[in-house]
Amino acid sequence: MKPNCPTCGMKFERDAGYGTGAMIVNTAVTIGMFLVVFVGIMVVTWPDVPWTAALVITIGVNLVVPIVFYPWSKTIFLGMDLAVRPLSETETAQARTALTQGVTQTATAADVSSED
Ligand SMILES: [Zn+2]
Repeated sequence: MKPNCPTCGMKFERDAGYGTGAMIVNTAVTIGMFLVVFVGIMVVTWPDVPWTAALVITIGVNLVVPIVFYPWSKTIFLGMDLAVRPLSETETAQARTALTQGVTQTATAADVSSED
């Protein structure tokens, strides 16, 4: 993930420890998916619930969902944070500075050529 938005220059990690908020979103979504799958298996197969299969499937959900969902959890937390705490004047100025100083140096050649 780039440190700043290539379009507006906003710093993605607005504060130290910003990943913790994303981790909370990721954990909440993983627990939600676990409950949906677990209760879904119980509802569909009741009264003969295949407990071993349910265990294997839900363990798989708890291993795969946090990894697959990780990028979106960062984006969702950033969106939630921006909704509650919009960019300050200082952050807006830093974003402009980052854009003019070419913080997007890590951008790929395709990104750089599209900026022209
Ligand atoms: Zn932006």
